Amino acid sequence: MCVVTEDDRPERAVALRPLRAAVIGAGMAGILAVIKLREAGIDDVVCFEKADDLGGTWRENTYPGIACDVPSHVYSYSFAPNPDFSRMFSPGEEIHEYLRRVAVDHGVLDVVRFGEEVRTMVYDDGGWSLTTSSGRQGHFDVVIAATGVLHHPRLPDIEGIDVFEGAIFHSARWDHDVDLAGRRVGVVGTGSTAIQITGAVVDDVAHLSLFQRTPQWVMPLDNQPIPPQQRAEYREHPERLRELREFLETSFAENFADAVVDADSAALAKIEDICRANLEQRVTDPVLRRRLTPGYRVACKRLVVSGDFYDAIQRPNATLVTTPIDRIEPSGIRTADGTLHELDVIVLATGFRVDRFVRPIEVSGAGGRSLDEAWADGPLAYLSVAVPGFPNLFLLNGPNGPVGNFSLIQVAELQVSYVLQLIALLREGTSTAIEPRADATAAFEAERVEAAQRTVWVTGCDSWYLDARGVPAAWPWPFRRFRDVMAEPDLSAFQL
Ligand code: NAP
Repeated sequence: MCVVTEDDRPERAVALRPLRAAVIGAGMAGILAVIKLREAGIDDVVCFEKADDLGGTWRENTYPGIACDVPSHVYSYSFAPNPDFSRMFSPGEEIHEYLRRVAVDHGVLDVVRFGEEVRTMVYDDGGWSLTTSSGRQGHFDVVIAATGVLHHPRLPDIEGIDVFEGAIFHSARWDHDVDLAGRRVGVVGTGSTAIQITGAVVDDVAHLSLFQRTPQWVMPLDNQPIPPQQRAEYREHPERLRELREFLETSFAENFADAVVDADSAALAKIEDICRANLEQRVTDPVLRRRLTPGYRVACKRLVVSGDFYDAIQRPNATLVTTPIDRIEPSGIRTADGTLHELDVIVLATGFRVDRFVRPIEVSGAGGRSLDEAWADGPLAYLSVAVPGFPNLFLLNGPNGPVGNFSLIQVAELQVSYVLQLIALLREGTSTAIEPRADATAAFEAERVEAAQRTVWVTGCDSWYLDARGVPAAWPWPFRRFRDVMAEPDLSAFQL
C-alpha cells in the first residue's frame, strides 16, 4: 500500500489502494487512457492492442485522400499541441504519426502488448479476469475499453461480391499492392470516405465510376497548407496555438455541433445555405446537379466536407452511377437497368457496423450476465461511459456519446477525467465496485431519446447515426452540456 500526500492539502494524506488497470485498444483513446492513468499515479497498467501498431482508426484507414474533417488543432490532445500540422485538416498519416509521437513521448509503448487481442472478460471478485488471443490471463481491478466506434467494416449485401475477378476491398482494408494507375475503378458509397477517395484517385485512374445509392450534401472546404512561417510562430509562441485551439473549439461547437442537434436553429439554416450554394456553383450541368441533390436536409446524414469532390465527379473520366446496383459479376458491377460497368478494381466504401461496441470480446458481468444479453436491444451506457451490471468497466467513446460532430479526442479527454474521478473512489477505498444504477441509466436514456427528436438526424434520411429503432445513437445536446456533465460524476447515479 502506498501513501500519497495531496499537494494542496497535506493534512489529508490518504492511503491509496494500488490498482491494476487494463486498457483495451491503443488507438487515440487508449493512448490517452494510459497517459492519464499513469499521471494519476496508477502505474500498473497494461494496454492490450490486437494489431502490431498503435493508432486505431488512423492505422486501419489508409485509403488515398484520408484526412480528418475536424480541424487538426482541435483533433489533437490538449496536453500535446502540435504546431507542425501541415494543414488545418491534416492527412491521416500525419495524424497517425502525431499519435505515435505522443505515445512515444509519454512512454506508452512500454505498457502496450501488441498482437494481443482480448477475447474474454469475466467479472469476479471486484475485478476483471481477461484472456487474450495468446492464451494469457490477467486480473485487473479496472478495465477501460477504448475499442473504437467506426471499427468493424460493413460489407454490403450485394449478390456476387465473391465472384469479382479484379481486386475488391473495403476502404478500411485498402490493398496498397493494387496499383490504380490506368485502371477502371468503381467506388461503392457516397459517405465521407468515398468522397475523399474519389477526389484523391480520379486523376490517376483510367475511369472512375461512383456508385451512389443516396446523394450527399457537401460542405466546401479550402484546406490550404499552413505556411512554414505560421508553424514556426506556433512553435515559438505556444500561447498563439492555444488561442487558435480555443477559437476553433468554440466556433466548431457553436457553428456546427450545436446546430445539428437543433433542427430549427439559425446556425443549421446557414450551413444549409452554404451547402446548397456549393452545389449550385460547383456543378454546372443541371442534370448532374439534380442527380447530386439530396432529398433530405443538410446534415441529416453525417455532413461530408470536401473541396474537390464536385470537381472530381465532373472530370471526363468520372461517371456518377445512380441506377441501383443489381449484382457484382466477374468483370464488374451490373446495375438494375442491365448495364455492366466493367471494372478492374472495386472499392467498398460502405461504412462500418457501429453497434459492435466492445464486442466481439465476450464480456461476462456481475452475476454472469453477458454484455450481449445486456445490450440485446442495442448498446446502452450511462452517459456513454459505464454500463449497469458491469462494475469497474469504463468505456471511452462508448454508445450514444458525442460522435460525428465533435473532436473525439476532446470527448475522450473529458470522459477520461470523469472516469478517473470514479476510479479515485476505488483507490481511496470509498468503494470496491462502481457501476451506474439501472434506474439512472434508464432515466438518462429516456431523456436522450426525447431530445434526439429535435435533432436534424431524424428529419427524414437513413444514416449510421440511427439505431434499429430509428433513434440517433448520439449525444443530442450541445457540447457544453457534455462538458458540464463530464466535469464531475453525479454519484447518486452510481452504485458504490
Ligand atoms: P458511411 O457514411 O456509413 O457511408 C457508407 C456509404 O456506403 C453510403 O453512401 C451508403 O449509402 C453506401 N452503401 C452502403 N451499403 C451499400 C450498398 N449495399 N449498396 C450501395 N451503397 C451502399 O461510411 P463512411 O463513408 O466510411 O463514413 C463513416 C463515418 O466515418 C463518417 O460519417 C465519418 O463520421 C467518419 N469519417 C470521417 C472522415 C473524415 O474525417 N473526413 C472520413 C471518413 C470517415 P446510403 O447513404 O444509401 O446508405
